[in-house]
Amino acid sequence: MIELKSAEEIGRMAVTGQFVGELLAELSGVAAVGVNLMDLEHHARRRIKERGAESCYWDYAPSFGRGPFRNVLCLSVNDAVLHGLPHDRVLRDGDLLSIDMAVGIDGWVADSALSVVVGTPDPADLRLIEATEVALAAGIAAARPGGRLGDISAAIGEVAHSYGYPVNGEFGGHGIGRTMHEAPHVANSGRARRGMRLDPGLTIAIEPWFCRSTDRITYDKDGWTIRSADGSRTAHSEHTVAITAAGPQVLTGRPAPGATSPGPSSAGATSPGSSSAGATSPGPARKPAAAA
Ligand code: MG
Ligand code: MG
Repeated sequence: MIELKSAEEIGRMAVTGQFVGELLAELSGVAAVGVNLMDLEHHARRRIKERGAESCYWDYAPSFGRGPFRNVLCLSVNDAVLHGLPHDRVLRDGDLLSIDMAVGIDGWVADSALSVVVGTPDPADLRLIEATEVALAAGIAAARPGGRLGDISAAIGEVAHSYGYPVNGEFGGHGIGRTMHEAPHVANSGRARRGMRLDPGLTIAIEPWFCRSTDRITYDKDGWTIRSADGSRTAHSEHTVAITAAGPQVLTGRPAPGATSPGPSSAGATSPGSSSAGATSPGPARKPAAAA
């Protein structure tokens, strides 16, 4: 069942979303050649604790993973795209890193993800990341009251198609609010003017993720990390969005690069369009007809 949120409840989700956006921007600044994935994980744990927020990932044990998850970030490198389990691994020049996180503050949840390249980017990787960001922006633009859920899916799928990337149908976006994964499932491809009507108060995470040359995935032995089946590189962008009478409202907008830099290091990472509030990126992805 789908619970529409009041304006006040959306406002509370936006408080959480602001923190998520700021922390993701900070983490993308910390990510750099030579940084260990566990440094990012511990940085995020510290910031979440300081803020009095609660990670939605910690102890999460969904059907699609080997639970419980004991980290606050999903960190997926190169051909890993979703649910990457943080581990002892130093980032190398040219690595493509996807960072996904969801937290709750006072019972209201926000979920967002982004991809960056550390060190010297391969233009093909930047193009892949750009595609997920453009698809995310298109999905958000389609999240209008009176529209249909399929409008969002179709908008994302069209962008993937225009870039020449296949779309996996198993994991996509999801409803969100009091918990991380609520109905409905928001597929990354579909038909416009189909599916449930988009009413004001619907809050969803929209999260395109693409592999460069396959729509198939494989699971690591860790029971969590999902990779492209052919080893090709992958990217992922996600925002939490509210549908309001005035149109889509992005709840996890990020400060523009350089606007705040709480993170210790200088810009190690590059992303193509980096983002400010509206249109950019996403988080751990999901699930067949369910949420990731
Ligand atoms: Mg996410
Ligand atoms: Mg999500």
